[in-house]
Formats: sequence, structure tokens, C-alpha cells
Amino acid sequence: MSTTFHLFRLQEIDSQIDKAQRRLDEIQKILDDNRELKRAKAYFKKCETEHDISQKILRKTEDEVKKQRIKIEQTEAMLYSGNIKNPKEVQDLQNKSQSLKRYLSKLEDDQLEAMVAHDEEKEILQNSQTDLDKLKAKLIQENSRLAGEKSGLNKEKEGLQKDRAVALPAVDVERLELYNKLRKQKRGVAVTVINDGGCSSCGSTLTLDIQQKARSATNATYCPSCQRILYGK
Ligand SMILES: [Zn+2]
Repeated sequence: MSTTFHLFRLQEIDSQIDKAQRRLDEIQKILDDNRELKRAKAYFKKCETEHDISQKILRKTEDEVKKQRIKIEQTEAMLYSGNIKNPKEVQDLQNKSQSLKRYLSKLEDDQLEAMVAHDEEKEILQNSQTDLDKLKAKLIQENSRLAGEKSGLNKEKEGLQKDRAVALPAVDVERLELYNKLRKQKRGVAVTVINDGGCSSCGSTLTLDIQQKARSATNATYCPSCQRILYGK
């Protein structure tokens, strides 16, 4: 058995640990990212504020209409009370009543406009509340699924680390140093398997001589293209 076999075994385990760790990092990033929820909450808050403003405007127009109607009632009550006999005063009161009514019609238009605007804001607010609730429910589900995956990966990593501890003593110190150095330089892959006469990491074709050396030699044989240690089964 070539000594590269033990290194290859270590590489297999480390690659699996790396893969688990990459996914764990990804999961953590997703769990830590609350931008979507923050955005939805901020939008809901904005809708709430705009809804409240439209409600205040509507209340104000309603009040003004009410006050105007009272003024008209009072003016007409005076007119029909029979207490005012002077024709000039009667005429003035009639003019005043007509002018009050004209202004009432304008106030009623304002009220109607405010009502329509308020209805729109109410609907927008309800929709944003629904969206926020849906997002919260979705996040609860997603996060619980991710938490389950995370705990599975942590268990898997623990098992792999035990395997690693078993595999490690078979690798001599010098080889291990070389392996660690190459892992850092070659994005985690120091030992690569020969696949169909080629390097499985960089894909370059290997001469038969190199393939043979990789299978039998006690010294490390490198891929001429990517400089990784070759392992031939
Ligand atoms: Zn290569």
C-alpha cells in the first residue's frame, strides 16, 4: 500500500469536514441575516403612520362638516323664529345661510376625498400586516429547518473528527506538514485522485509514467499542472 493512501484517507475526511463546515457557515449566515424581516417591519410601520395620518385628516373633515351644519341650523332657526322682523336683517341672514351652505358643500367634498384616501391606506396597512405575518411564519419554519440541519451537521462533523483522530497516526510528520501546507495553498485539496488517466482536481491528462509512479512510489508524486499530490487507486 503506498504511503499516499493514508494521506488520501486524511484528505477524504478533511474534505468532508470542510464541506460540513461550509454548509454550517452558510446556515449561520442565513440565521444571522434579519434584513428581510427588518425591511418588512419598517414598511409596516410606515403604512401604520400613513394610515394614522389619513385617519386624523378624515376626523378633522368630519368635525368641520358637523360644525358647519350646526352653524346652518342655528342661522335657519333664527330666520324661522319670527323674532327678526327687519327685512334688511332677514336678507342678511338668508345670505349668510346660503353662503354657509355653499361652504358646507366644499367641506363635504373634502370629507369624501379624505374617506377614499383613508380606505386606501387601511387596505395598504392590512396587506402589509398580512405580508409581515406570512414572512414571520415562513422564517419560523425555515429557521427551525435550518436549526435541524445544523445540529445534524455538527453531529456529522464530530464523527468525522473521530475518524480523523484514528487516521492521523498513520501519516508521518513530514508528510503531514507537506499536506497541511498544500491544503492551505490549494483551497483545501492537497491530495487528488487519478481519474480516467487524469487529475480529478484540475482535469489535466497524466502520462502513464506519472500514473505508475503515483501508484507505486513511496515518495509523493505531483500533478504537473496543479501541483497536488496524486493518489492512484
Ligand atoms: Zn492537477
